[in-house]
Amino acid sequence: MSSFVVALDVGGTSMKGGLVTRSGEIIRTDRRATPRDRGPAAVVATIRSFIDDLATAGGGAPAGVGLAVPGLVTADAALYSANIGWRDVPATDFVPLDVPVMLGHDVRTGGLAESVLGAGRELSDFLFLPIGTGIAGAVILHGEPYGGNTGWGGEIGHIPVFPEGEPCACGQIGCLETYASASAVARRYSTRATSSAAPVTAEQVAALTASGDPLAMEIWDEAVEALSLALASYTLLLDPSAIVLGGGLAEAGSLLSVPLAERLGKRLAFRDAPPLRQAALGMSAGMLGAALLGWRAAGFADAGITWSPDVLKTPRVA
Ligand SMILES: [Zn+2]
Repeated sequence: MSSFVVALDVGGTSMKGGLVTRSGEIIRTDRRATPRDRGPAAVVATIRSFIDDLATAGGGAPAGVGLAVPGLVTADAALYSANIGWRDVPATDFVPLDVPVMLGHDVRTGGLAESVLGAGRELSDFLFLPIGTGIAGAVILHGEPYGGNTGWGGEIGHIPVFPEGEPCACGQIGCLETYASASAVARRYSTRATSSAAPVTAEQVAALTASGDPLAMEIWDEAVEALSLALASYTLLLDPSAIVLGGGLAEAGSLLSVPLAERLGKRLAFRDAPPLRQAALGMSAGMLGAALLGWRAAGFADAGITWSPDVLKTPRVA
């Protein structure tokens, strides 16, 4: 059997690929644009050629292929993605070679990596919550991501937190994502700032919040409030041992985690709030999770358990 798998994390704008050995060593990483504007068939073709090129660079057919993709996903098919536009693509359509393949939902695959290799390594049950352009969670139960009955499980970004609030792009009103995603924080500041030179990134709003800008502090506080409401519900329902924060907004570190922990603690009366942790794998989580899927497809259900934390120190995806 080959000594490596091909792992791919397919996003809306770019895809990160890697070759990962049985012991977790990342022997190669690469990145390619996702040609979303050329339609779903072009995206599938690009994934096929990317996998082929990575396998060739590794010296031949891999032991397996793991793919993290957005939308509704089963292990055997990409059922639907509003972002990329595909419907019912069998896993084998992505792979140019006769090798076993396993698909995973992008956020849940990142959550799997945090569970097996990262911030949730010794935890059984936790929420992995990347806060980026949007917000989606990976519900981790007994160490494994849980997608629910239809695959829509974990969509915590669309929990209504302010029912009389702003409309969300999803069609609902007052969703968490409308107030607390990195793009929402940037958009809400830009919309309300009077200066024409208003900052447009969440990072800039975070910096303004830290420096005491009143409007930025108000927007930031509303994001924290929205998160505390959603996380209080999650905590009461599932009693997680931790909440692992990731994505762009979590880069703000204690500016987010300190007020959020305080607010969440105050909201819960008869029980303690779970601790908040920073995700450990950063932007590599999806690709590392895909590597775990690739090794599982190849027949190694325990992939990753023995991988040294040093795997995290090997070169990250650029
Ligand atoms: Zn929504």
